[in-house]
Amino acid sequence: MLPAMHTLSERVPLRDRTREEIYALICSDATLTRADLVELTGLPNSTVAHAVDRLLAEGRIARSNAEPKGPGSGSGRPGIIFKPVSTGQVIGAIDFGHGHLRVAIANDLGEPIAEVEMALDVDLHATRAMDAAAEQLSQLQRDNGVESLAVVTAGIPGPVDRHTGIVRSPTILSGWVGLDPASELRRRIGAPVRIENDAALGAYGELIQGAGRGYQDFLYVKASHGVGAGLVVNGAPYTGATGLAGEIGHTPLSDRTELCRCGRRGCLEAVVSLQAIEEQVLHTHPGMVPGAVVLDSHDPVTARLLEETGRTLGRVLADLCNLFNPAAVVLGGSLGTAGEPIVAGVIASISRYAQPATAAALVVKPAELGVRAELVGALHSASQCARRLVPDAGSSSRAPLPA
Ligand SMILES: [Zn+2]
Repeated sequence: MLPAMHTLSERVPLRDRTREEIYALICSDATLTRADLVELTGLPNSTVAHAVDRLLAEGRIARSNAEPKGPGSGSGRPGIIFKPVSTGQVIGAIDFGHGHLRVAIANDLGEPIAEVEMALDVDLHATRAMDAAAEQLSQLQRDNGVESLAVVTAGIPGPVDRHTGIVRSPTILSGWVGLDPASELRRRIGAPVRIENDAALGAYGELIQGAGRGYQDFLYVKASHGVGAGLVVNGAPYTGATGLAGEIGHTPLSDRTELCRCGRRGCLEAVVSLQAIEEQVLHTHPGMVPGAVVLDSHDPVTARLLEETGRTLGRVLADLCNLFNPAAVVLGGSLGTAGEPIVAGVIASISRYAQPATAAALVVKPAELGVRAELVGALHSASQCARRLVPDAGSSSRAPLPA
């Protein structure tokens, strides 16, 4: 699983491009030996050796001893592998959920320094949410003696047009429509800001550090207050022609009539959402009070409700699986990670409605990073940007995810 390098300018001399390509490989997988780099790039040994020496001399990578390989691996000698070295830059990440805000700072390898979370109605109060995010970042910087941030990646739970950076849909994230969150946040934070869809970042987080590791093609589904999907194709995030791929929350369910916040009836996220399941749990557990609902997947009644929710979600995912034939479906968000019953429900529907061969080859599992997947994805996205593995965030209001 190696993110391809498609972003280096053609104007960069070939020798430098080779060096940057090798640097990108080392950043994507810190277990590579010189022989691995020769094999992966198809370049002559001498060319790879020269590029590695330059990177070592520049202090951008360091040598390290590989983990000893098991018996029968053919070599008793531990190999030398290369790891990226932090340049000392600090980057920031913001995860705006529909009902929460998470903020973190990290070194430019994406290794977290500090993180904070707060409940907030992000949908209706865009300005307040951006103010709060900037304040939290500033507080984290003060607490950790960080003077400035090289770049910040922010995920928002709605569609952002890649070309304009403007929040598009009047029916999703209505309080943000017409806003240019990259510019707004940049003005508040004083650093370049990249904006991404939250599910796309969740997919990226799971790809780099979670349940998506080792898969070239998988589907990440964030199910929480809303439902969104992030696609990984050929080992890289796929965001579509204008960055709107994966907006599955308002897929109509033919047999449902629940009113959706978009004004239509029977949308997927009107049925599959944290709010909907909490109402059902409240209804079936008279002792619970609103605001303190516990989704205990070991409670038989709650487990049944979660499984039914998983089946409804799986019915829509089955169509996506037929179209896209992923190796895995990773369920994220606070609802997607609420326990085994929801996974079982998704599997049941995919098994029933997807092509048998497609379903048989598919793994369904919860996100390993849990509800932090989006934040981790944002940290890695910003880290790639800070190390110039993707285009400069300052040149565009919405740079693409590393691809
Ligand atoms: Zn809707």
